[in-house]
Parts: sequence; structure tokens; C-alpha cells
Amino acid sequence: MKPAKDWKIEILAVGSELLTPHFQDTNSLYLTKRLNDLGLDVQIKTIVGDQWDNLCLAFRQILARTDLMIATGGLGPTKDDRTREALASVLDRKLLFRDDLLRAIERRFSSRQMKMPEVNKKQAYLIEDAVVLENKNGTAPGQWIDTGSDTVILLPGPPHEIKPMFENYVWPRLQAFQNRYIYRRVIKTAGLTESQIETYLGDLYPKILEVQLTTLASPGQIAIHLKSSSDKSISQAKHKVGQAIKLICDALEKGVYSTEGEELEEVIGKYLKKKHQTVAVAESCTGGFLGHRITNVSGSSEYFLQGILAYSNTAKTDLLGVSPEIIDKYGAVSPQVALTMATGIRERANATYGLSITGIAGPSGGTKEKPVGLVYIALAHDQDVLVKKNLFLGDRNAIKFQSSQKALDMLRRHLSGTSQS
Ligand code: ATP
Ligand code: MG
Repeated sequence: MKPAKDWKIEILAVGSELLTPHFQDTNSLYLTKRLNDLGLDVQIKTIVGDQWDNLCLAFRQILARTDLMIATGGLGPTKDDRTREALASVLDRKLLFRDDLLRAIERRFSSRQMKMPEVNKKQAYLIEDAVVLENKNGTAPGQWIDTGSDTVILLPGPPHEIKPMFENYVWPRLQAFQNRYIYRRVIKTAGLTESQIETYLGDLYPKILEVQLTTLASPGQIAIHLKSSSDKSISQAKHKVGQAIKLICDALEKGVYSTEGEELEEVIGKYLKKKHQTVAVAESCTGGFLGHRITNVSGSSEYFLQGILAYSNTAKTDLLGVSPEIIDKYGAVSPQVALTMATGIRERANATYGLSITGIAGPSGGTKEKPVGLVYIALAHDQDVLVKKNLFLGDRNAIKFQSSQKALDMLRRHLSGTSQS
């Protein structure tokens, strides 16, 4: 057999419900993660319905091109569960009744003072020469079949059954083949564009040839995924990724907010805790989302004092002390209003920092001068007030998220001792 790192690996999810808009094939995400942990990459994933012909076709096609196939679902007792029968037919192998399997299924029912329904009997059939993978959380045993050229693993569909079965019986068997170690990390950035990142990274690529980089951009943040592999040990793979992280962080400087997978709100929380400082927020167009994010972090009561959601002009005046004249003169979405909202909340809450957001989240309400996506964000502290004008793109939710992200990032940059450019 080929070395495991060269295996072609496929996952087949069986179930007509997975071809509707209501159910997702999450088993393959779990399986992919665990295979990756073993240094194994999945090449193709397939979803097939319960129809006999389609099932057989999928098995035939996958067997023709793969070294390892993991199929999930369709091992249950009902008429539409025919994974085991279809595979036996494609492999031209018999299904053999196993008394010990039947007794194990009967025991499961009798432990709940139930009699085993006749339909469950079919779960006691094993494909000729298959190895049984015990199911501690359900009735359908899994099966491990070596065809000579391929390995096929049949696992049940319910996630709470597949996971323990994989961990206890599949993982150790696959681990015996492990001859490649993969290590992954993520660098999270904010306040940089994809092209800026690409420019910075361009110079680094020749220095980090053994680390694969994938840049994933979403509104308000860009994540750089790093992956390295080693045929020798996990520590060698870690070392390569560690070196790359250092080079990238040096290049992107203040753009990086985490190399540990944290969210921005967790990062600012750590800083504030460490410095024994506090923050309060005044929000308009984000509707409390900024406060929601900050308070999503456990222990945030140590540093989050107060949030005011001042949506109307009157609320901005009554609750934050923004003068009606300023609102009349410059409009509610203006740098002047953002500034007084930030100083207003800081003073009222007696906080180290006041953060404010006022903008137009859309889709209606925009004008030529003040388009949808125009958001002013301010950060007030004892020395100064910083106000930023932003033009965000996207729908209402995307604009709310980017606004909160920018506000958190302004605070993060200040806290990390690197002021905004
Ligand atoms: P059972 O004995 O419960 O019938 P089974 O092995 O026949 O188990 P299925 O009938 O295919 O499995 O699926 C049972 C349930 O498991 C489905 O209703 C679905 O909720 C869940 N399930 C099946 N396949 C997947 C999958 N790929 N990802 C996530 N959940 C799944
Ligand atoms: Mg079923």
C-alpha cells in the first residue's frame, strides 16, 4: 500500500435529507478535521441520496479512484438505510449474519426495557471479512473493509454516534499509518486590505517556502491561515509555522491582532484587564452590537462599565449630552457628534475610554453627501479624542459588524501602544 500521505481520500455522506435545504452534512467537517490532524488530506466529498442506483454508482465511482473512503449514514434499521447492502453488492461480497452483533443490539433494547423491533435485525449483518467498529451510542455497528486495493470505512449518520466510534476505533487504526505531521495556525488582522497584505507577504514568500499560506478575507478582518507538514515530527512542523508567524507579524506590525485564534473583543479585554482600565460605549447605528460583543467575553464586567444605545437625536442629547445645535448644524452622522458621544459616555460612566459609533447602516436613509455605509467612530481617552470616518460596504448586518470591528480595533491599537495612522 502507498504511504498514507499519498492516499487519495474521499468522504461519502449518505442521506436524502442531506440534499434538502434543511440538513447539513456536518459529519464530513468533523471527519476532515480529524483526518487533517493525522496529516491526511481529503480530496473529494460527495453527498448521495438513499436511492439504490445512486448509492451503488457513488460507491463504484469512488472506489475506482480512491485509496481510503469513509462513508457515513444509512446504516440504520429502516428500509431507506441501505449503505451496507449497496457496498456489499458493489464489492460483490456476501452479507454475513453475526449472532454476536444481534445479541449486542438486543442488549441495547433490553437495557431500556424494550423489545428489539424485527427491523433492527438487518444491522447484525456484516460485509464479508469486515472488521466490526463497535457502536456504544446506537445500534448500527460500523465496518472497516479492506478490499486489497482500498480501505472503506462505514460509519453511522448521527453525529453523537460517529464521533465516539471514530475516536475509539478508527483513529487508532489510522494512526498506525501516520507518516506525516501537519501543524496549522491562524494570524488574524484588522485595518489592512487584502492587497496591502499581499504586498507585505510577497517579499516573505521565498523565506517561508515550506509553509502554505491561505488568505481569507471577510468584511472587517482578514485571516492568514498557515499550514506546514513534516515527515519527521509535529515539533518540526510547528517550528516552521512558528518562524513564518514571526516574519509575518514583523511585516504586518500593528495590523495583526491575534495569532491564537482570538476575537478582537477578547484581545481588548486582555489589555484592559492587564492595565486595570475600563471602557464604556455609546452606540447609534450598531444598535448595541458593540456592547454585545464586548460582553460576550467572560469576565468583561471587570472592564466594561456601561453602554448607551442612543438611536434618536433626543436620546443623544438627553443621555450623552450632545447639544441639539451640533446635531442641527452637522447632522447626527458627523464627526462632531461622534466626538461628543465618545466624550459624553466616557465622562458619564467615569471610564478610561469612551467609544462611540454613529452612521448609516442602510439600506435606506443614505444621501449623496452621506451615503449608506458612512460611519463615524470615536475613541475618547484622557489625552485626546480620535475620530475616524469610514465608508463601509455591504448590507445592514455587514455594516454593523464592520463598525463594531473598527471601534474595537481603534481601542486595540491604542491599547497596544501603537496609535492609528
Ligand atoms: P440511524 O440508525 O439513526 O438511522 P443511520 O446510520 O442510518 O442511523 P441516517 O439514517 O443516515 O444514519 O441518519 C440519521 C440522522 O443522523 C439523520 O437524521 C441526521 O440528523 C444525522 N446525519 C446523517 N448524516 C449526517 C451527516 N453527514 N452530517 C450530519 N448529520 C448527519
Ligand atoms: Mg437511518
